[in-house]
Amino acid sequence: MGCTLNCTFCHTGTQALVRNLTAAEIVAQVQVARDDLEEWPSPKEDRRLSNIVFMGMGEPLYNLPHVAAAIDIIADNEGIAISRRRITVSTSGVVPELGPLGDQTQAMLAISLHATNDELRNELVPLNRKYPLEQLMAGIRAYPGLSNARRVTFEYVMLKGVNDSPAEAKALLNLIKGIPAKINLIPFNPWPGSPYACSDWKTIEAFAAVLNRAGYASPIRTPRGRDILAACGQLKSESEKMRASERRRLDQAALAPTLASEAKDAPAA
Ligand code: SF4
Repeated sequence: MGCTLNCTFCHTGTQALVRNLTAAEIVAQVQVARDDLEEWPSPKEDRRLSNIVFMGMGEPLYNLPHVAAAIDIIADNEGIAISRRRITVSTSGVVPELGPLGDQTQAMLAISLHATNDELRNELVPLNRKYPLEQLMAGIRAYPGLSNARRVTFEYVMLKGVNDSPAEAKALLNLIKGIPAKINLIPFNPWPGSPYACSDWKTIEAFAAVLNRAGYASPIRTPRGRDILAACGQLKSESEKMRASERRRLDQAALAPTLASEAKDAPAA
């Protein structure tokens, strides 16, 4: 919950990291979703929860042991049995963990790319200062099991006047040359105080057309949940980290009426 990486387009990044989820909590989220879709305790023939993506709230590769354990459980044929090919882990580019992710999970890989040069990516995804594009692309090319059947997904948020020109689309093609890939174009979801605006629809379509002509699938993700600040990059939760002293104060305040009524009800000595 929360994130330490502070990508400038992401509302979640403005929320301090509270803590990492355990494998049990990750699996529980899958079960809650299945329950909601009436696929619990056993799935129907036409199961609706067919794909899982780890993204949107923190960096999964900073929690790899629990992510890998959760994927083992979710993919187990005796249990939930969702194929590893239908499980995608999205990262902002923690290069040293890409190999271990592939080896331990055989999950599909997605990369939050958003820029085609270091100068801009340093601003949008500050982790790029630690693992610049050259290192990142080398790590992706070496991802275990990469093939035409197991393509990398590049996530690219469309920011008006920042990264959305036809020249940037061509630069993107250059950057990913030779990598079996598809590109998800994400219309930016504004949040209060965000420094960016979403690209115009025509600009997004023109960007997609350049990628399509080069043979890449480049779906434009339909924005969902914008109205309730629950869309991609808007998942800042209400559970902000609270100081221990503040928590104690609130706990004591909540206990006070109970103690008072216990004292009132206690038999006189
Ligand atoms: S985009 Fe992902 S890695 Fe970046 S701040 Fe948001 S949650 Fe963290």
